Amino acid sequence: MEGLELLLPGNLVRTDPATIEAHSQDRWHAAEAPSCVVLAKSTSDVQKTLQFAHLHEIPVTARGAGVGYVGGCVPIQRGIALSLAEMNSIKEIHVEDGVAIVEPGVITNDLQQAVLEKGLFYPPDPASLKECSLGGNVATNAGGPRCVKYGVTRQYILGLEVVLADGQVLQCGSRCHKNKTGFDLVGMFVGSEGMLGIVTEVTLRLLPNPPARAMISCSFREFHEAANAVQRVLGAGHLPSALEISDKFTLQAAREHVGRELIPDGDAHLLLEIDGQESSVQSECAQLEKLLDELNVVTLASAVPEEECERIWEIRRAFSYSLRATGLTKLNEDIVVPRGRLVDLAKFSEQLQEETGYSIASFGHAGDGNIHVNIMVPPMENESNLKQVDEALDRLFTQILAWGGVVSGEHGIGLAKKRWFSQAVSPVAMQVHQTMKQALDPKGILNPGKFLG
Ligand SMILES: Cc1cc2nc3c(=O)[nH]c(=O)nc-3n(C[C@H](O)[C@H](O)[C@H](O)COP(=O)(O)OP(=O)(O)OC[C@H]3O[C@@H](n4cnc5c(N)ncnc54)[C@H](O)[C@@H]3O)c2cc1C
Repeated sequence: MEGLELLLPGNLVRTDPATIEAHSQDRWHAAEAPSCVVLAKSTSDVQKTLQFAHLHEIPVTARGAGVGYVGGCVPIQRGIALSLAEMNSIKEIHVEDGVAIVEPGVITNDLQQAVLEKGLFYPPDPASLKECSLGGNVATNAGGPRCVKYGVTRQYILGLEVVLADGQVLQCGSRCHKNKTGFDLVGMFVGSEGMLGIVTEVTLRLLPNPPARAMISCSFREFHEAANAVQRVLGAGHLPSALEISDKFTLQAAREHVGRELIPDGDAHLLLEIDGQESSVQSECAQLEKLLDELNVVTLASAVPEEECERIWEIRRAFSYSLRATGLTKLNEDIVVPRGRLVDLAKFSEQLQEETGYSIASFGHAGDGNIHVNIMVPPMENESNLKQVDEALDRLFTQILAWGGVVSGEHGIGLAKKRWFSQAVSPVAMQVHQTMKQALDPKGILNPGKFLG
């Protein structure tokens, strides 16, 4: 990559073993070493990298913080790992316009805290928010607990600067909260997993920060009771800002990891958050407590002070890390089912657990049917292990699709779900994907080897 070093002086192109290794994997198990790593500091660096790669037909795999769950940023065909992590400045927060303009490497939580100081709110809240980047969130259309009320990352992207495969810089969208000018180019890049262009600047929509919130934590003896409570809450006309469910295995792992005294008794748990003006939050919280109290709960508690709410969220965000701490490999699937299928999903998971011998931990965003079904397997060191896991996933995904569900609600397809992509979309939808890819990246240099081959 000598030519590239000449184009990008200042030690931006790295080939030392430590940097190569640090850019070969995310939180999934696949790994491949890139031939070199580019640590971009500006749009111009990205542009030069792509012009060079386009000319020489070298694969380029974008990387944000590298905490994806599907191997999306793994440079599986080697070439250049293009890190956006050092493009991490918050360029503007404009209160009157309700807009922030950021570079892609900004960590999600840093943006949330910065806008909060100005009385504004950026709702998308992946559990990895203290580690993941906004560029990665855009490329995976990340979600999180608050999406039940506020929607996923796509709903907060007003404009993008994208460097195309041949190095041209595209500005799309604007800083306006509504825009119907031409095709929805912003939407085309959101969720495109680094396969259509490299995002170098993001214009985000911000909301007024709700002045008050409250949380309700309640537990049940059985998962189906918690799932029934979800329907009862929504059926009574409430739209909580989060509605999270978790099962027995998850709760047990959390008791081991964060402390028995912090996790309520019971084998299923529901967490609700309500936000808004103080008086409406208080009255809605009281109504919800009354409703839940009539549903055979094991424990029921509410929290109002901000620090207490945040403490409860910290515990919820620790669920993923608690499962990891069991020492088993956690295959975190982010399937979505039509919400009425939550109980069917729980029954199916129990059956799958019995038949495969793998423990299954389920928790997640019950309000929108997006449940993290974690298949807990022994460390994946051999081929037969991998085959068995794929067979278990075959059964899970086939059932989800038969219910009209989808194989990914927020993590993306990447390498992890590549095997199931053609089953998950229609032949015509597959053809449209290929057409778009061919139009924007005719030489196929952007993140090759992922779900479009
Ligand atoms: C403990 C834990 C909890 C998680 N919880 C959630 C959750 O609640 N919700 C959720 O949605 N996800 C969750 N995730 C998954 C992950 O955090 C998200 O997918 C996140 O958006 C990845 O961001 P990243 O910066 O790490 O991206 P990376 O892993 O670096 O990259 C992800 C994909 O985006 C592409 N990409 C990155 N930056 C750019 C760019 N600037 N331009 C173009 N393409 C780019 C990469 O090529 C890759 O395909 C969780 C992960 C962990 C480890």
